[in-house]
Amino acid sequence: MSLLSVNGLSVKFRQRHQDLVALHDVSFSLDRGERIAIVGESGAGKSVLGYALVNLLMKPGFIDAGSVQFDGRELTKLSPKQWQGIRGKKIAMIFQDPMVTLNPVLTIGAQMIEAIRSHTRIAYKDARKLAIEKLAHVRISAPSQRFDQYPHELSGGMRQRVIIAIALLLNPEIIIADEPTTALDVTIQAEILQLLKQICADNGVALILITHDFGVVSRIAERTFVMYAGRIVEQGPTLEIINDPQHPYTQGLLNALPQMALPGQRLNQIKGNMPPLNDQPSGCAFHPRCPYAEERCRQNPPGFVYSGVSTVACYVVEDMLSEFSQHDGDDS
Ligand code: SF4
Ligand code: MG
Repeated sequence: MSLLSVNGLSVKFRQRHQDLVALHDVSFSLDRGERIAIVGESGAGKSVLGYALVNLLMKPGFIDAGSVQFDGRELTKLSPKQWQGIRGKKIAMIFQDPMVTLNPVLTIGAQMIEAIRSHTRIAYKDARKLAIEKLAHVRISAPSQRFDQYPHELSGGMRQRVIIAIALLLNPEIIIADEPTTALDVTIQAEILQLLKQICADNGVALILITHDFGVVSRIAERTFVMYAGRIVEQGPTLEIINDPQHPYTQGLLNALPQMALPGQRLNQIKGNMPPLNDQPSGCAFHPRCPYAEERCRQNPPGFVYSGVSTVACYVVEDMLSEFSQHDGDDS
């Protein structure tokens, strides 16, 4: 059984005249200790998905349909009290900007103690010991001194390490990290991602990494889910997707990466923008930006097919596969 199993998850934003669909029928699973990435441009619905998983959707957002099962338990039906035993404890979240997540007027230690004691009844002395252990675990030097410092006294990278230490306090089974390094310098980003990967691997923690940057995905995630306009459009093993992307959107994201370009080659940004929630294209939502779009793409959304590399929602891939199988039939 998967540790987390998401089926047909749909999220809407309530509006006066018509609800806007932010997530369409999203399904995926996560095994114990597995690391996956959710990739897409901003506005693709990645963060909405992260928030929906831990019931932190802000109004007017709501789960309209689908299920989220953690260890066999349905999460979408939990009461706020039941959520206390899950969020922060079994499933921890790390957000983009440590200055937002950390309270500027409390010391690191006070925030860690509060996080521990809101879930368990342990003595201050033991909570302090645990907090300092976790600070050491994320390789913060002089952890017992850091414990008494305020967030502004630490560098950006150090603050993000503190956030990871807080996420680890209660030995979660899943960490959801939403753009955890976007606010940091590139070299620090790489260090923090490596740390996150190592910690998850060492402790058997599963990771859902939410990112717009395909560059970081290859170093971290075993499987990748590409999102566009609130839908998963391609999913499969990370290396195979990077080496042989099937969906035109995935191809576009990879072509736009500086590290994928040959020397002297111009980067090919995908033309156009992610459509806003209140103006979703018909059919395949990518059609206004897709170089291969045809009439049928504008009519109906494509279903999923398995390409041999990944699972993809695209008519062109579907056609290629049926051509292949016809040729196979001709040969025999
Ligand atoms: Fe492009 Fe059509 Fe495939 Fe959508 S279904 S990605 S518009 S070719
Ligand atoms: Mg986001």
